[in-house]
Amino acid sequence: MSNIQGNPCLACITGQHCCSRLSGLVLSADEFRLFFEGHRKELSIKQSNKAIIVSSINGNACPHWGESGCRIYLHRPIDCRVFPYVTARIIEKRSTVKIVFHSRSDCPLKNQLYRTMPEADIRNLLTELGKSVYGSAKSIVVQHERGYISRLQNRIEAAISRRLYQTGHK
Ligand code: SF4
Ligand code: SF4
Repeated sequence: MSNIQGNPCLACITGQHCCSRLSGLVLSADEFRLFFEGHRKELSIKQSNKAIIVSSINGNACPHWGESGCRIYLHRPIDCRVFPYVTARIIEKRSTVKIVFHSRSDCPLKNQLYRTMPEADIRNLLTELGKSVYGSAKSIVVQHERGYISRLQNRIEAAISRRLYQTGHK
């Protein structure tokens, strides 16, 4: 959920589903510990490489969502800050980690919101997320995935990277 001046989210026609139906939020271990550890019973929790992905059970709201919006708004996780951009993949390689985001979310006001969110800020935030998940030894590369070819390339890279790490070849 965004909170910009003249907040367009207040006119959201989806019932603010980005928070009221939490799905696939990407977190560092620190973010998880700080904000979601105490809510384990309300969440489905998965590990993807070193990131933690949380969704609500049965399409429920984020545990931090209340009548007046996000209760931790000023401290909310990075993946909440970049929405309606979507963190799509984290591809771990030998010395680099590629974080892929896209702008195909189903937020009805995304084009309006994107105008208030310089892409450089999104890249900086996702680099910060990458560093907090993988540490400073890895270089973080952030890519805006645009179009079918780039999506296909990233799928192939992700599959190769998973195989590399599953078989332990480094
Ligand atoms: S970010 Fe989009 S989906 Fe979320 S509350 Fe705002 S307008 Fe609605
Ligand atoms: S932490 Fe806040 S902004 Fe993030 S999903 Fe939950 S309610 Fe929404």
